[in-house]
Amino acid sequence: MNFCVLTLFPHLIEAGLGESIFARARQKGLIALQTVDIRDYTSDPHRRVDDYTYGGGAGMLMQAQPVYDAWKEAVGSFEKKPRTIYVTPQGRVFDQKLARNLAQEENLVILCGHYEGIDERVLDEIVTDRISIGDYVLTGGELAAMVIMDAVARLVPGVLHNEESAQTESFDNDLLEYPQYTRPEHWHDKEVPQVLLTGDHKKISAWRLEQSKERTRNVRPDLYARYEERQNVIAWLSRKKKHHIHMMELLKRGLGEVLCFHPLDGALLLEKGGAVMLTCTDTAAGERLLDRCPVDLSGRLFCVCLREIIPVLYERYHLTEARGCYQAYYTQGVPLTVPKDFNIRRLDVSFAEEIFAEYHELVTLEELKERLKARAMYGAFVTSEQGEEKLAGFIGTHSEGALGMLQVRPQYRGHGIGAALESFLINQALTRGEIPFGHIFEGNEASLRLQKKLKLNVTDVVLWWVS
Ligand code: SAM
Repeated sequence: MNFCVLTLFPHLIEAGLGESIFARARQKGLIALQTVDIRDYTSDPHRRVDDYTYGGGAGMLMQAQPVYDAWKEAVGSFEKKPRTIYVTPQGRVFDQKLARNLAQEENLVILCGHYEGIDERVLDEIVTDRISIGDYVLTGGELAAMVIMDAVARLVPGVLHNEESAQTESFDNDLLEYPQYTRPEHWHDKEVPQVLLTGDHKKISAWRLEQSKERTRNVRPDLYARYEERQNVIAWLSRKKKHHIHMMELLKRGLGEVLCFHPLDGALLLEKGGAVMLTCTDTAAGERLLDRCPVDLSGRLFCVCLREIIPVLYERYHLTEARGCYQAYYTQGVPLTVPKDFNIRRLDVSFAEEIFAEYHELVTLEELKERLKARAMYGAFVTSEQGEEKLAGFIGTHSEGALGMLQVRPQYRGHGIGAALESFLINQALTRGEIPFGHIFEGNEASLRLQKKLKLNVTDVVLWWVS
């Protein structure tokens, strides 16, 4: 990911981000940071970049020309015009959700103001997002830019050593994180809570969840209300669990949000990748949910649990195709055996073209690259007689959490590679406390056989993907 900061104080940014995790990510090439000194672009012989404000009033304002010229030069180095953020107390307040959204970008330009701010005309021309880091006024935008870059950078795959830690922190699932302890066990007459020393992971998880809930309820009742709403929807969905595993897992794993819910009508969810999940008691109920939805749903992919709602979606959103799916899920909780004959490991984005050559009917190359960058794809490798390693098959997790994109190259079929790959991903999901699940298109007999072999529960056709 590339950050470019337009500022009057480049050394502040370099100093602030020159240590620790951010600096290591730069060294590893996961993040690039470029600073541009706006003062280098002034046409004023005395290098001034500010002037009095029209209409009077205290303070000086940064002029349009140096800001525009600095920005133009900076964006000229990118292939596509990047998102340009102006940090300002007048923007949308920054939060973890926005950090996750920004982390999807390849390039981000951040413009820092100073004095009373910047001439509005240049902001109108170049800025795509206005972001505030809180309801207070700083003297300049540099600290705000650093806050945003720090929060975004740690979400870029590979930046944190422990990939789990960005998934299980405060705000994930609308809860604050639980209290944590390290050595020594006794300190200042205080003990580490006994449960953490038992080694019983179930008990520890339950204790941590209770602590998180209590903390959030006390400190952030607004967040806690959102958490409770989410739990209510999960409880409602669980009444028809096998139809709704995908929606329940979406909410449990923090991969989506509730757009609309009514206990008599159903639930409408939006997953982070942009697809919409709908379950409704009948067509009229589905229409009511769609009517009440606060977000424009045109152009989106839908996953629905009621066949009769499909014509409604065709008409409302000009969709044209629906494919029925079985839902397969694994609730036994016992890890599966993964044969050691193949080397299974994570695939990086350099495999995009190779995978796309084999698997292109259901995804675009861009979507595949996104999944690879999200570290969501794995490959099985076999070693040829000449000692060369070959990619024999691959599998991945879709953005909504379903296992999928499983393919074994024809010459390697019949050796259990598909089963090994799926078992591998199922075991990974189990360690995170998830219920692994996948969607199998009607007619995909090979996949159905595999799910049954691995002892997954397979429903009748209960879902339709509508595109
Ligand atoms: N006159 C401006 C106003 O009242 O909205 C405040 C200008 S402030 C003194 C100078 C610069 O600091 C701004 O242009 C902005 O870039 C940055 N800044 C100040 N407070 C900020 C905040 N809460 N979030 C993000 N940036 C902020």
